[in-house]
Amino acid sequence: MMNRNWTPRSWRDRPLKHMPTDYPNPRALARVEEELSRRPSLVSAEETRRLRDALGRVAEGKAILLQGGDCAESFKEFSPDNIRGTLRLLLQMAVALTFAGGRPVVRVGRIAGQFAKPRSSPVETRDGITLPAYRGDNINGMAFTLAERTPDPERLLLAWRQCSDTMELVRAFIQERHADLEALQRWGSAHPERQAPSLDPRNVYTSHEALLLNVEEAQTHLDAATGGWYDASAHMLWIGERTRQLDGGHVEFMRGIQNPIGLKCGPTMEPDDLLRLMDVLNPEAIAGKLTLIGRFGADKIADRLPRLMAATRRDGRPVVWATDPMHGNTLQAGNGYKTRPLDRILSEVRHFIQIASAEGVHPGGFHLEMTGQDVTECLGGSREVTESDLPLRYHTHCDPRLNADQALQLAFVVAEHLRA
Ligand code: PEP
Ligand code: MN
Repeated sequence: MMNRNWTPRSWRDRPLKHMPTDYPNPRALARVEEELSRRPSLVSAEETRRLRDALGRVAEGKAILLQGGDCAESFKEFSPDNIRGTLRLLLQMAVALTFAGGRPVVRVGRIAGQFAKPRSSPVETRDGITLPAYRGDNINGMAFTLAERTPDPERLLLAWRQCSDTMELVRAFIQERHADLEALQRWGSAHPERQAPSLDPRNVYTSHEALLLNVEEAQTHLDAATGGWYDASAHMLWIGERTRQLDGGHVEFMRGIQNPIGLKCGPTMEPDDLLRLMDVLNPEAIAGKLTLIGRFGADKIADRLPRLMAATRRDGRPVVWATDPMHGNTLQAGNGYKTRPLDRILSEVRHFIQIASAEGVHPGGFHLEMTGQDVTECLGGSREVTESDLPLRYHTHCDPRLNADQALQLAFVVAEHLRA
């Protein structure tokens, strides 16, 4: 299987999960895919290589990865203020981590492409009426009507336009914050014993889950300079917990692109599954190519993570180990809201750092759902959000995000533990 020829469309011969199959007009979809393949690249191959190199230094223990943003970007929540709020928060957290860890922080947004969602059920029932589930603004609409829930390919073009606008805002932000970012860089290199080769101080990189493979394929191009295939929709892409089957289309697509990639690792993953996925996804053992993102839950991580870390340490090929303390800690509040208690999130983060230290692995990465807005989606925090606060500013289009206050608290907890 591993030796089969890869092409940007070879995933089409594999079993596929979580991709919409109910477009009423497949021809209209094909036209949109064709249109997307002619749109300009959102990111360059050169920037993507720079991120891969930077992640290579995270794998060596010389830098830290901070990855965060919305669970799902949306048309409604898009505004320059919201984008800037998320970027500002990412930088503030990076300051705390750089200062404490004495290592440069590689900053990656869940931004400019994080729309499509895998859902636990393909349908949703309310008051005896069953409709297709909401799957993200680039597929269908959130309102509970058949018209809105029917996939519309035009949404892919609207989403692409928003990604392009978001990239412009990201690049403008980087320009304006140039001085701050360089100061951060100097702090990061202030510890000569941990001196890392200079990380590009200017960049905030982009990432999303590579769920809609037709869309990723359309934006994947051959890079003339290196002869490699690059997915130009984002610098980094990841494989979700629900689409990491060894023989599935998602693993097939991701094995062929040169971008750095993430792999979510949930509580059912065994060391053997992981080693086989590493064989397929990073056969040449390139440092920075593969980031393993554990998402177990505060109550499961101590049981599940050590064996996976021990396996990668014994194996010896370079990986970045990261924690996503969000997705294993979701629960339903008494009033029906889907939420996450900050206490559990912090508990998973602490376990992650402790387990990594015990296994002799660098606790290199932190993957979060968060927003710069003052939302009330996760419980707890120093300005405590209680169950009855949840309805006040619950704006997420999918999973509950940390607000700025909660995210900064998390950054300081991480900083404290990295210093210890
Ligand atoms: C996500 O990151 O939004 C997500 C769906 O995560 P996972 O694949 O880990 O469940
Ligand atoms: Mn999510």
